[in-house]
Amino acid sequence: MKNIKVMFLKIVALVAILLPLVLTAQKPDYVLVIHGGAGNMQESKMTPEKLADAHSGLQKALDAGENILKAGGTALDAVEATIRVLEDCPVFNAGRGAVFNADGQIELDASIMDGSNLQAGAVAGVHTIKNPITAAREVMENSPHVLLIGLGAEKFASQQGLEIVDPEYFRTEHSWNEYLRIKQRDDDSGRKGTVGAVALDKHGNLAAGTSTGGMVMKKFGRVGDVPIIGAGTYASNETCAVSATGHGEYFIRNVVSYDISALMLYKGMRLYDAAYSVVMDKLVRQKGNGGVIAVDKNGNIAMPYNTSGMYRGFVNSVGETAVMIFAK
Ligand code: ASP
Repeated sequence: MKNIKVMFLKIVALVAILLPLVLTAQKPDYVLVIHGGAGNMQESKMTPEKLADAHSGLQKALDAGENILKAGGTALDAVEATIRVLEDCPVFNAGRGAVFNADGQIELDASIMDGSNLQAGAVAGVHTIKNPITAAREVMENSPHVLLIGLGAEKFASQQGLEIVDPEYFRTEHSWNEYLRIKQRDDDSGRKGTVGAVALDKHGNLAAGTSTGGMVMKKFGRVGDVPIIGAGTYASNETCAVSATGHGEYFIRNVVSYDISALMLYKGMRLYDAAYSVVMDKLVRQKGNGGVIAVDKNGNIAMPYNTSGMYRGFVNSVGETAVMIFAK
């Protein structure tokens, strides 16, 4: 009898110790992860103002998306709202502040994907749509297509009532000076950040989106990985949501975002292992610079990058949040 009592007390003590651990290890209700591009930037060469601007731009974007997720909104709405903030922020290479192509023009690409139904939409080579991510969503929801390009995409966006701007709107002093500097030296060291977001909402749905001005000095008409579903963006409720940034040609050839999802689906890999093996092994072997952000259906996240830094941040329903540029 005494033994049974001791045993009972031991079980109660064990439950008391383990219960909080089990509770805190619970899947978060919602998660948002964002990036503002990866590159071989040097912290020592960045001014405190530039670092502060990047931090505050990322934080504003996280706040906009989290407000939606916290209120029970969809991952899709959160991804779109988050990316709109980053597109409006001149610090990043998307929307206002985007980089220039070899002709000194801006050509923007964006895509969005809904993991709940595998619907996707994208635009490429546009230069008058203020928020290309919203145009991508319009393509997904209000056209029978996945990808619209150039003038056709712009005509469609205007028919849908989206804000159309003069191409001058996107031009910033900083981006133009970078363009002139790189043109003279003929290198691409000035590449700056594409933006992206992935989210898991309270309903268990995943979504991903990405928006960019592409690579600085790209050939006119060049389309990168960002509007190619499976390359720069992918989401499936069965596995994960991924948004990529980096040298787009490598991301297209390796179908990076879909590859991560496929490794999880067909090989049963964990998100972290799948994302790291693609970015830190497969891409590195090919000298494909860049990184991804990803969230899986259980709220786990991964943010691997093989460059010196990646503008990134995350927030979830259990109060974990951070904004980072370099390794911690
Ligand atoms: N992936 C983008 C592109 O190739 C560029 C970037 O992420 O910096 O267009």
